[in-house]
Amino acid sequence: MARDEKLVSAIARERIGRLLSMAYKRTEKDTGDPLPGRYVRLAREMSSHYKVSMEKKEKEAFCKKCNTVFVPGKTCSVRVLGKAGYSVYRCNKCGTERKLYYKSIK
Ligand SMILES: [Zn+2]
Repeated sequence: MARDEKLVSAIARERIGRLLSMAYKRTEKDTGDPLPGRYVRLAREMSSHYKVSMEKKEKEAFCKKCNTVFVPGKTCSVRVLGKAGYSVYRCNKCGTERKLYYKSIK
């Protein structure tokens, strides 16, 4: 039983990674279809359904409000606030801002 759960979560984790990379590639290519948003939504649903947490870089790769994949210069703008130790990602679609810390604050 426990082994099955491990297998299931390993498969879910792999599929989440694959969906997110597919979404990123499609957004980067700028095909203009709504598929990337769907891929992100599926990955998030899978993460909550199978209780598999995404990695930090995976969580930071998309907008939490509208599921748009962050591609700097294309779908989001990035402001780097060096002294504060974080950058602000602004989604171009819905305007939501997100602080992403890149160094620990003392
Ligand atoms: Zn957004």
